[in-house]
Amino acid sequence: MKRRYLMTPGPSPVPAVIREALATEIMHHRTDEFIEILKETNEGLKYVFCTKNPVLTLASSGTGAMEAAVTNFFSAKDKVLVIVGGKFGERWAEITKSYGLDVVQMDVALGESPTVEGVKKMLDANKDIKGIFTTLCETSTATVFDIKGIASLTKDKNILLTVDAISGLGQDALLTDEWGVDVVITGSQKGFMLPPGLAFMSVSEKAKGFIKTSTLPKYYFSLAKALKSYEKNDTPFTPAVNLIMGLKISIDLIKKDGIENMWANFRKMSLAAQEAAKALGLEVFSKHPSSSLTAIVAPSGINAKDVVKKMRKEYGVSIAAGQGELEQKIFRIAHMGWINGQDLMMCFSLLEKVLRDCGYTNFKLGASVAKLQEVIYG
Ligand SMILES: *Cc1c(COP(=O)(O)O)cnc(C)c1O
Repeated sequence: MKRRYLMTPGPSPVPAVIREALATEIMHHRTDEFIEILKETNEGLKYVFCTKNPVLTLASSGTGAMEAAVTNFFSAKDKVLVIVGGKFGERWAEITKSYGLDVVQMDVALGESPTVEGVKKMLDANKDIKGIFTTLCETSTATVFDIKGIASLTKDKNILLTVDAISGLGQDALLTDEWGVDVVITGSQKGFMLPPGLAFMSVSEKAKGFIKTSTLPKYYFSLAKALKSYEKNDTPFTPAVNLIMGLKISIDLIKKDGIENMWANFRKMSLAAQEAAKALGLEVFSKHPSSSLTAIVAPSGINAKDVVKKMRKEYGVSIAAGQGELEQKIFRIAHMGWINGQDLMMCFSLLEKVLRDCGYTNFKLGASVAKLQEVIYG
């Protein structure tokens, strides 16, 4: 039997204290005891999201909240700008088109971040744009987008800014209220150190106004209903009770570390992983690397999928291959949630072995680990 090591950008590892909380005896959700827990997690989520606005907890994976953002804030034929720089930008385009929105798409080269001037140009050319859908960390290319810059264009206008921060939240800095981001979405299985199954979504005052005018159909994901229950620390439907018990512990852990310290710590891990890749003579794929994961270009002649497969098969270490056209070209190593510097050292030491087994020998054994030691612990 092999131990399993998750170094993937979701699901990410779950610490024992959270696993224990998940295993507590199930309690009924319409009780004072559970309402107390929801009250605490509702407050705690505001801290993690850097907002004073409500943060809803939904029983779905992250994509459920993405769909809810489209159906609750907009109506068919509304013109929206969708920024596409990889697989998850594409997901916004697919959802908005599915619901008949009038989609203006801004394509960004893979591994690049949209420029504020570029976004401004799109808004200037399309005066009737009602909303922008974008991504904090485009996980498919491990690229962080300039959300602060984009928010500066929408902050004082009646344009709703919705950010998919599913992989980025907790690692890449995101000052929701200070920057003026209206809607921030994440899921439980990445920075929150929880199993998959919960989605979270912050809703600004501006966003509440958009809910009032939206005419797209919704039922399970009615945010009006969810907000009404939220005011009473309740949920419209049966919540994922035990995941929320785990969430309570997750928030405690995050508060103990401090969100700003987490951003600094993951920034350092990202820089260390980039340096470690370079020490192996490899190229970092992204031009604006995220703090949540690092995408590394496979050596020429070596299929990234083989590296990923060997890591899992030989050593039980899960890393991710590329997606779409990058599938065979890059592999991605996550540093989010519970993943720490020791995990990175373990992962890179085995990566060295696997690269050698694949026939790439253009580095000194231990070179990447030495770099990690230097940057993280030096
Ligand atoms: C993981 C991820 C998603 C998908 O979320 P699900 O929980 O699988 O629905 C969406 N966007 C980004 C940026 C992600 O990294």
